[in-house]
Amino acid sequence: MRKKNIIVTASHLAFILILLSLLFAYEKTGRKLFSFLTPMSLKPYACEDTVNVTPEYISNDLILVNRDHPIPSDFTPDPVFYRDTDVLMGSEIIESYGALSDHIRETFGDRIYVSSTYRTTEDQTRIYEEEGPEIAAAPGTSEHQTGLAVDLYTMYHAGMAFLDSPVGRYVNEHCSDFGFIIRYPDGKEDVTGFSFEPWHLRYVGQPHARIISENDLTLEEYLDMLEPGSWYSYNEYVLGRVPEDNIVVPSSLAGCNMSFSRDLCGYVIVTIVT
Ligand SMILES: [Zn+2]
Repeated sequence: MRKKNIIVTASHLAFILILLSLLFAYEKTGRKLFSFLTPMSLKPYACEDTVNVTPEYISNDLILVNRDHPIPSDFTPDPVFYRDTDVLMGSEIIESYGALSDHIRETFGDRIYVSSTYRTTEDQTRIYEEEGPEIAAAPGTSEHQTGLAVDLYTMYHAGMAFLDSPVGRYVNEHCSDFGFIIRYPDGKEDVTGFSFEPWHLRYVGQPHARIISENDLTLEEYLDMLEPGSWYSYNEYVLGRVPEDNIVVPSSLAGCNMSFSRDLCGYVIVTIVT
């Protein structure tokens, strides 16, 4: 009887240990292990034949900038003043940021404020020297130098406390509706090199912001997932990542509306509205 009890206790203990290690893995890998429970919202798109195209304009929306992937020296940002303020932002994000800001004001009767957006190399160098490598990105590796990132706060709620405000929580949950992502999400420090920054939004445009957010990805993981030469469908969109020196689109979609973004990794992301 006693022996049986010990066996039962040991098996309970083993079960609890397995459960705990699974929970630990869940936290550590940012739900990756359990991703099979939430199906990827991007589906393969069968493309039989492609045709070469020469885009009139290639945007910077999906450029990858991180500690291992600095901004190339020939990159020229395009900062402009936001509305009638003296805040400089990348021209690409002005409209979407304005839409987010207006929506917050209409929904909450409250405002979001920008603590930092476009930074020159000199700005970034000064911040890096003042705050150190733990807090600030090295000059040449900050998204702020591209003009595509904004740091936000709301009255009395800055930094991590942004999440203590209804506005901060809303921005974190819904910024993808406006083309932005939380660039350094919780639990993805090993991928991004940054701890969780609920205030740092990065513009990537649609439908990329929604796909990244719905699938709990980082920009690094999203670009990795887009296999060069493969095509994907998402709602009314078809996407592909092709070499920048050989830009092609599926022949059957050649007449559709499409846009192009470089990724600074040697590829261009093609976004087609079908
Ligand atoms: Zn930032």
